Amino acid sequence: MQRFTLPRDLYFGENALDYLKTLEGSKAVIVIGGGSMKRFGFLDKALKNLEEANIEVKLIEDVEPDPSVETVMKGAEVMREFNPDWIISMGGGSPIDAAKAMWVFYEYPEATFEEICVPFSFPKLRKKAKFIAIPSTSGTATEVTAFSVITNYATGVKWPLADFEITPDVAIVDPSLAETMPATLTAHTGMDALTHAIEAYVGLTHQPFTDPLALEAIKIVFDCLKDSYGGDKDAREMMHYGQCMAGMAFSNALLGIVHSMAHKTGAAFSTGHIPHGCANAIYLPYVIKYNAKADASRYAAISRFLGLEGECDECLVDSLCDKINEYNIYLGIPKSMQEFGILEDEFLAKVDNIADLAIGDACTGTNPRTPTHDEMVKLLTCCYYGTSVEF
Ligand code: FE
Repeated sequence: MQRFTLPRDLYFGENALDYLKTLEGSKAVIVIGGGSMKRFGFLDKALKNLEEANIEVKLIEDVEPDPSVETVMKGAEVMREFNPDWIISMGGGSPIDAAKAMWVFYEYPEATFEEICVPFSFPKLRKKAKFIAIPSTSGTATEVTAFSVITNYATGVKWPLADFEITPDVAIVDPSLAETMPATLTAHTGMDALTHAIEAYVGLTHQPFTDPLALEAIKIVFDCLKDSYGGDKDAREMMHYGQCMAGMAFSNALLGIVHSMAHKTGAAFSTGHIPHGCANAIYLPYVIKYNAKADASRYAAISRFLGLEGECDECLVDSLCDKINEYNIYLGIPKSMQEFGILEDEFLAKVDNIADLAIGDACTGTNPRTPTHDEMVKLLTCCYYGTSVEF
């Protein structure tokens, strides 16, 4: 038996934020990040709408990028004191991911972070509150997914939390929020969305229900990401919907080792974070080559759907990788970890351990090819030096 779960309601299009005027309840917390929702007036708009709905509001502000376990625990404590019946999270992936994890500890104060790191083992939520997600970036699709990524800074490891219990009840996909994204963030989050759709389409647990969403999302990214990067309003709107469709696909079909590698390298180096979407964009063509060595057919199907050239499955895989590389160049994404600025000595010292962690990541189990430790070391090494994958 398989499962396909999405939010109960999805509001989209211009002024979708007005849905908040009709909300029923008495208290809501709004979880936001560093201030862009305030600066661009979206927080005020949300507050006004909630006032019209007669809902008392408390803010949880300043969730950092790549939110920490500490931020989650602090937010949950605020929720326990205030007792909201709605949790509203607004902004990029980080405040929404953090709010999802806060929700668990709000409803289950005795739970530990270690317990909820076990995928699909969450206790039943919605005994105290329901959850609304309002994304301002077009990539993570956390507004429709069963996932949240929390960073343990003590160990430098990002933990993907996974359970359909944290799939939001309502997603508000209002394109005006995504219009404010800076170009680099547009590039990184757009390539994250592309990776979600491709990994969902080729993964071991892809479904008849997720395949059409994944293919259409891939097409939307290739049609709209360059213009969206350039600031075109209509392209940004389509990217906001396309990334959401990719999210619907991967929340149910799950992901693969591009994400395993991004999760475990993101916070691993002293030279600073590799932004999630940037890491995915770098690793994606290498992983496609690696996976396609075992079975090229699903990648070939993507290429055919896009109308790319190629006489055989392997040729179609090459065309797909060429297209991804062309987008990476256009979007200013480095070709390798070395080009990104990670130090060679540090990479070589850590690659063995990172390979182990990546293999143990929750996303590895659904990858179409199961990597051995040696293969993962070799794959990471190709991604570091930008050399071609021949195994
Ligand atoms: Fe992602």
